[in-house]
Amino acid sequence: MSITDKLTGSSPDGLPPLRDVIERYDLRAKKNLGQNFLLDLNITRRIARFCGDMSNRTILEIGPGPGGLTRALLIEGAARVIAIERDERCRPALEEIAARYPGQLDVHFGDALEADWPALTGTPTGPITIAANLPYGVASLLLANWLETEPWPPWFDGMVLMFQREVAERIVAEPNCKAYGRLSVLSQWRTEPKIVMNLPAEAFTPPPKVASAVVAFTPRASPSPACSVKTLGRVTQAAFGQRRKMLRASLKQLTPMPELLLQQAGLDPTDRAEDLAVSDFAAMAAILDTAAADKI
Ligand code: SAM
Repeated sequence: MSITDKLTGSSPDGLPPLRDVIERYDLRAKKNLGQNFLLDLNITRRIARFCGDMSNRTILEIGPGPGGLTRALLIEGAARVIAIERDERCRPALEEIAARYPGQLDVHFGDALEADWPALTGTPTGPITIAANLPYGVASLLLANWLETEPWPPWFDGMVLMFQREVAERIVAEPNCKAYGRLSVLSQWRTEPKIVMNLPAEAFTPPPKVASAVVAFTPRASPSPACSVKTLGRVTQAAFGQRRKMLRASLKQLTPMPELLLQQAGLDPTDRAEDLAVSDFAAMAAILDTAAADKI
């Protein structure tokens, strides 16, 4: 933002400040929709820049709300933004942005948890990046849904997502720490996740109870070792479901011969889930996939 913009309170897109938009359309935040808005364009523009060069890119935004991040994405040069928002009250505010950027912003109203992503995005000319200040109640569910996409590599080439700090830390956690779990394994097997920005609760209106962080995910071309994502989910569920137990005990619910599975994967049966690397879980899933295929 230029010094003139700061002094006059005007935005580089010529649209009114977000506080005025919220007041004009009476967009009082609803707790049940996870509405904690980002009103500072300096912050949303920084987040938008983590999407990289957007001149040929379609951004899929979840929960644009009054449009803070949406405006930042368009100011920073997004060729196109496709957004899905659950709250119909945001329609007039988002229509104003769409009118300012003809042909560049499409807003769909509905539940992101029920979205058919390829149908929503159509066949864009350039790559797709998912960007969002996610509603925290459904953030992990949406993330798992994207990470479990089949086939892989997926229909998106990156994600820039805001989570509660605690969830962001689980995503990037390494073995041998409390935060390491199912979400860490799935995220790190399929992508390279990185916390790129931390934000205090006061950055939001209204402030949530917890701090937040932005995670940038780069999908891996070939997650390694290769295995079925469903089998990997079964392995991590068994292992982390009873994380204090040794694997020879916790994996009993997965296979009648956990010791054989662990031996084939070159793992110590007295290890616990927390001790294993991401690749160890995928190696066990691959062995189970081969065993299931051999039975046919
Ligand atoms: N993007 C805006 C910002 O950064 O200020 C708002 C972010 S706010 C944390 C989350 C947004 O997601 C809200 O606008 C809320 O209405 C919307 N939302 C909540 N649940 C949703 C769902 N299931 N599907 C689509 N949007 C949802």
